[in-house]
Amino acid sequence: MKGDEVQTLADMVNDSRSIVIFTGAGISTESGIPDFRSPGGLWEKNRPIDFSEFISSAEARRESWRRKFAMDSVMATAVPNAGHQAISNLHQQGRLKAVITQNIDGLHQASGIPDQEVIEIHGNTTYAKCLDCGTRMELDEVRAVFLPDEVLPECGHCGGLIKTATISFGQAMPVEEMRRATEAALDCDLFIAIGSSLVVYPAAELPLIARQGGAPLVILNREPTPLDSYADLVLNREIGDTLAAVTKL
Ligand code: NAD
Ligand code: ZN
Repeated sequence: MKGDEVQTLADMVNDSRSIVIFTGAGISTESGIPDFRSPGGLWEKNRPIDFSEFISSAEARRESWRRKFAMDSVMATAVPNAGHQAISNLHQQGRLKAVITQNIDGLHQASGIPDQEVIEIHGNTTYAKCLDCGTRMELDEVRAVFLPDEVLPECGHCGGLIKTATISFGQAMPVEEMRRATEAALDCDLFIAIGSSLVVYPAAELPLIARQGGAPLVILNREPTPLDSYADLVLNREIGDTLAAVTKL
């Protein structure tokens, strides 16, 4: 039965020429980066800091930089796993329209997918930005300011607050990335959601937008998701082995 699901997905992939892959934190757990909601995930240790708290509280800003630099060695040493590689193979086969990712770890790009085909709807954690004027600040600079005595970084141009270039809960979504993601979802011939609990909105609207646009929807995740009843195929399986098998069939 389970083997049949993998064959079904392989057949769907082989029939497609314009696939959108939509990924969440689950695709990177096999690279050693914990997700949010699994047992042992980041939420068991740390409640997320939402955007309004970051703006209003210096202690929340200090705590978010502490967490950022504590996770840094994990992020810096993580490499793409079999799941990322399988998606990169789809790119090489010319079947991929785009990868839309909620992840901020850069591992799709590291697996060989060109930057312009990876749409990062929750931003990127490898650099920081001024929240007022948008000026980019490199993490090395933030590290040098923050690590010795936890002095908060400030924008050199306008004095504004500096935050990693990620989208926090409560923060506005990036307009251009959401436009591109919506367009890709509407214009694909297969949409595969991988390793996402599909509870974070508006990201989780994208699989439904793809269905409205007429594409079959596949969900690959260890656990059930609230969107399973909308999917044409649901695989509750481990990501790396499954995708590696699919791209070989
Ligand atoms: P989530 O933590 O809510 O859900 C991850 C899902 O993946 C879970 O349902 C889990 O069961 C499944 N999963 C984990 N490992 C798996 C595996 N090996 N095989 C199959 N399934 C597996 O993650 P989300 O939906 O992406 O939402 C959380 C938010 O957290 C996102 O917006 C993202 O920006 C952020 N985040 C990113 C990273 C990263 O960049 N790697 C890590 C943690 C959180
Ligand atoms: Zn500024």
